[in-house]
Amino acid sequence: MKIHHLNCGCMCPIGGALFDGFSKGVFAHLVCHCLLIETDRDGLVLVDTGFGREDISHPAKRLSGFFRLFNNIQRREALTARSRIEALGFSSTDVRHIILTHLDFDHAGGLTDFPGAQVHLLNAEIDTAQQRHSWLARERYRPAQWSGSSGWAGYHSQGEKWYGFDAVTALRGLPPEILLVPLPGHTQGHAGVAISQPQGWMLHGGDAWFYRDEMDRQKPQCTPGLRFYQWMMATDNGTRHRTQEQLRTLFRRYHHEITFFCSHDAKELTAFSALDTTQ
Ligand SMILES: [Zn+2]
Repeated sequence: MKIHHLNCGCMCPIGGALFDGFSKGVFAHLVCHCLLIETDRDGLVLVDTGFGREDISHPAKRLSGFFRLFNNIQRREALTARSRIEALGFSSTDVRHIILTHLDFDHAGGLTDFPGAQVHLLNAEIDTAQQRHSWLARERYRPAQWSGSSGWAGYHSQGEKWYGFDAVTALRGLPPEILLVPLPGHTQGHAGVAISQPQGWMLHGGDAWFYRDEMDRQKPQCTPGLRFYQWMMATDNGTRHRTQEQLRTLFRRYHHEITFFCSHDAKELTAFSALDTTQ
């Protein structure tokens, strides 16, 4: 399997380095780190979708006013997963599967650009996104982004554990090297995506953490802006902290065999993109 690291969205909240730890000016730079996996027999698999073309052309219909303002979501069609994939020489119809860490607006926006793809995620995430019980749930979960998707494949944890974590080890129609790993807290049905490669495992941690140094083995830390944002967005902060602690233990113990990254850290994406010779 060949894996491409793609940035499929850009958010530039006011706060600069207080958010991302490196920007010199007023605005921070947060990315939407997605993966495009070329499989041998199952076509292209997209992990998360960032923002889609409809989000760019009709933001008021698709995205909440609060998050458009607070996150300062950038409208750049060239960043959408569909444009990225076409720039690599593929067609959108080559994408047969999409795996979602969760259904937040900055992860699910591209679904409508791949109407024929089967969408894999945890059942718990489908349920909470459809219920939209609270103000925050209504702002973050945007049915216009996903209500047209017909090919849902929802999962409960099942199969063997992955390094002691619950896991979904048999995703329908996908190679056995790709697993869903529930990482609850940010949302109830939030999951990471683990991929086995000859050189070891890769874990896309989604929004289980937001800042590269949060998983540092010696001195974990996070910027104040992202600490606040994670607290604000979590459906259960106690569970989120427990999940992060489990992940730190995992990475401390197995850092030689697992590479990992989260969705929104621009420095991480740059480092992984440098390893992707097709970028
Ligand atoms: Zn996110």
